[in-house]
Amino acid sequence: MRVTGLPPYDPQNIFARILRGEIPAKVVHDDAHALAFHDINPLAPLHVLVIPKGAYVSQADFSAQASDAEIAGFWRAVGQVARALGLEANGYRILANMGEDAGQEVPHFHVHIFGGRRLGRMVA
Ligand code: 5GP
Repeated sequence: MRVTGLPPYDPQNIFARILRGEIPAKVVHDDAHALAFHDINPLAPLHVLVIPKGAYVSQADFSAQASDAEIAGFWRAVGQVARALGLEANGYRILANMGEDAGQEVPHFHVHIFGGRRLGRMVA
């Protein structure tokens, strides 16, 4: 069923392969519900991706299908990662692309954390 504007979950997507350890990543956080690692093409001095351990295509999929424990654990990890990277003092931005109109490239739900400099205004 196509519920998220994206095809069904593809277990061969690049983040699934990172989760399985098939592709290396610079991991900064790993717990029961989330894995966080540096983006391969950073758009800010600190650019980290946080992904849930479960097989969710997008934010739409994650928010509809994940358990409360998975959602809570994931968002707690986002905060822990930002804190551990030292971003709380000066601030940071979190962003999730969902589906085609947002240009989501990797079909495994992920949140970007940007920080380390004064960020520009959000543009649509
Ligand atoms: P999206 O456009 O889907 O929101 O963002 C996908 C992000 O994944 C991009 O910022 C891209 O640089 C990053 N990315 C794509 N492939 C890899 C990879 O193999 N390793 C890492 N660490 N990041 C990746």
